[in-house]
Amino acid sequence: MREKAEQGHYPSVAPRGYRNNPETKLIELGSSTGLLVKRLFEWYATGNYSLQAVCGLAHREGLRARSGGKLHKSAIEAILKNPLYYGAFEWAGMLYSGTHEPIVSKDLWDRTQQAFAKSNRPKQTKRDFPFIGMLTCAFCGCAITAEMKKGKYIYYHCTGNHGPCPKPAIRQETLEEKLGEALKGIRIDDSILEWMVQALKESHRDEKAYHESAISSLQVQYNKLQNRIDQAYTDKLDGKIPEEVVLRMIEEWRKEQTQLLAQIRCHQAANQNYLEEGIKLLELANRAYVLYQSQPASEKARLLKIIQSNCTWDGVTPRPEYRKPFDLLAKGLSSKDWLPGQDSNLRPIG
Ligand SMILES: [Zn+2]
Repeated sequence: MREKAEQGHYPSVAPRGYRNNPETKLIELGSSTGLLVKRLFEWYATGNYSLQAVCGLAHREGLRARSGGKLHKSAIEAILKNPLYYGAFEWAGMLYSGTHEPIVSKDLWDRTQQAFAKSNRPKQTKRDFPFIGMLTCAFCGCAITAEMKKGKYIYYHCTGNHGPCPKPAIRQETLEEKLGEALKGIRIDDSILEWMVQALKESHRDEKAYHESAISSLQVQYNKLQNRIDQAYTDKLDGKIPEEVVLRMIEEWRKEQTQLLAQIRCHQAANQNYLEEGIKLLELANRAYVLYQSQPASEKARLLKIIQSNCTWDGVTPRPEYRKPFDLLAKGLSSKDWLPGQDSNLRPIG
């Protein structure tokens, strides 16, 4: 068979569109099926049909499985990837040039393989449209969705699920800019920021004192239990109380101790995090717009989702619903609103 292959003769059962000639022992073109096979290539190479759609077309045109039923997708795919149809063939891992008459040109076969390569590219997902799920149409209340145009421009538009919506589509770049405007509003004056950090540090003093007193009172309770446990062991040794009773009591006290330890750890953690996180949050809020501008679209969307729960979009101006505490910050903090009163012992600002 290898010898036959080397002579350019396909050494096996003729694939669809060909038939085995028992006299010449060669494959030759079948009558109508060959034409149909060619059409499969032509359809799929356009890139306009999925493999499933080509299956449907093939069935409608009369291409059948040997059983008479519909040809499965995998069978169609095998046809479309078989080099035999342009005149070569694979045998035992080698590609041979055949002497049989081709059904399609090498060019059509190549374009078909390109169509396969394209169809294997990852589909458009939410990842590619980062602002999906954040915006609601101001006109009809539908969600704003997105699509890719000309393979590179992302446009956002109303889904129009409640009937046609007159709101025009907007390019992602423009939308990014517009949405960023909402962040400008939450900028805190440097002087106000300084004042807030100062206030936070003062309140931290109270906070710290609270946690420390809580920890020490929990510690006292813990030690009391420990003394009881120690005493119980002594009593047990002295035989004053029955052993099983002692052990049950000790088990209860140990459980209480475990709970106390957990509470102590909570207070310790809160004590450490309170100040740092508060200041970090304020500084982050203050730099939100600057950070936003330098980020890729996916990060921009992530930042916006932290700050706002939803945003109404009328095609021109975004109207965000801010999450707490950004709702307060977004109302616009300026020195004149927040300037501490005369009785404040902080230095005047502005
Ligand atoms: Zn709409």
